[in-house]
Amino acid sequence: MSEEELQRLVEQTSWNFFGKPFKHQARFNNRLRTTGGRYHVGDHHLDFNPKMVTLNHETFVGIIKHELCHYHLHIENKGYRHKDADFKELLTKTGGLRYAPDIQTNRRFHVYKCQSCQLSITRQKRINTQRFVCGRCGGKLLYERTYTENGFQ
Ligand SMILES: [Zn+2]
Ligand SMILES: [Zn+2]
Repeated sequence: MSEEELQRLVEQTSWNFFGKPFKHQARFNNRLRTTGGRYHVGDHHLDFNPKMVTLNHETFVGIIKHELCHYHLHIENKGYRHKDADFKELLTKTGGLRYAPDIQTNRRFHVYKCQSCQLSITRQKRINTQRFVCGRCGGKLLYERTYTENGFQ
């Protein structure tokens, strides 16, 4: 994802879930290590951890919503900090993530599919498809994809 795409996604999320424009800058910041994003009170820009892009789209949008809660509330002089009632309320209303997921606790899941009965099997550990067969029909398993999910939520 390029920074232009990030900018567009943040603007779009702001319109769709807050009904208000995001008029500042969204950037990727490599220095964010385990945090998903950061709102800068000084110049209103948002930083996002480039590693967040590897999360599923919904989680990434949840992080954007979280940062947009800080953004809109701060601009409107409302309680924009985590402990503020305004923040908690807006976060719930827009479906933002309570905390940005800790990237280091991300779990990876591997999805396999039975070639005979199409059963999907999801495992945290890789399966040796030469040795393991489908538990339902005994068919051959085929690796399909790997996805990452944060372990926090
Ligand atoms: Zn926050
Ligand atoms: Zn099967």
